[in-house]
Amino acid sequence: MFAADLRDIDITCPHCGARNLSSVDPSVEDQEYVEDCQVCCAPILMHLHIDWQHESIQVDVRRENF
Ligand SMILES: [Zn+2]
Repeated sequence: MFAADLRDIDITCPHCGARNLSSVDPSVEDQEYVEDCQVCCAPILMHLHIDWQHESIQVDVRRENF
């Protein structure tokens, strides 16, 4: 089982390609939020799906549509 703690995930910025570290709350199965890139400060649209059965986190990053 997942602990209720935050998990750190690696994401790649769709704007500049830099790696960012993000903290995820695994207690919410589907999440969508915007986080600014730590390098180029552009908004990254994060879409997360928590797979409880395989205890994995699927991350989909996109450029935010303005
Ligand atoms: Zn960036």
